Amino acid sequence: MTEANATAAPAGKCDGCGATDVPLMKISLGRDFFGRVYDRLSPSADLSPKWYCDRCSVEKNLQRDFRDIKGEFEKLTKGTASALGQADQFERAKLRLKEIAALLAADALKPTLLKPEEVVALARAVESHRAGASA
Ligand SMILES: [Zn+2]
Repeated sequence: MTEANATAAPAGKCDGCGATDVPLMKISLGRDFFGRVYDRLSPSADLSPKWYCDRCSVEKNLQRDFRDIKGEFEKLTKGTASALGQADQFERAKLRLKEIAALLAADALKPTLLKPEEVVALARAVESHRAGASA
């Protein structure tokens, strides 16, 4: 009676940690941290869906937010238009980074997609940016 699992997870392997023989779920990232739609996940473009185990699906969401914030922060430091130019978004991003760092620091997650030190470094950079250059 293992046939039912085959239809739920055709790949049979987590795209994050590579675990097999675990329940997998297809991740639809939907919108990014700043509410923008992920093009590659629009139904017609979603050609290679990713499957993640329970733990990796949590981390995948953290990774998505981290990448969004990192990208926008780089724009901000270069002086180009950035979603972080808005004070409320900046505060939101700062809090989210702290939350991600705290989640990674906790033993609940064993990071395979994110590097905790990178998250901490970005959180610090964002923090000091706020202190230094407040528009
Ligand atoms: Zn996994």
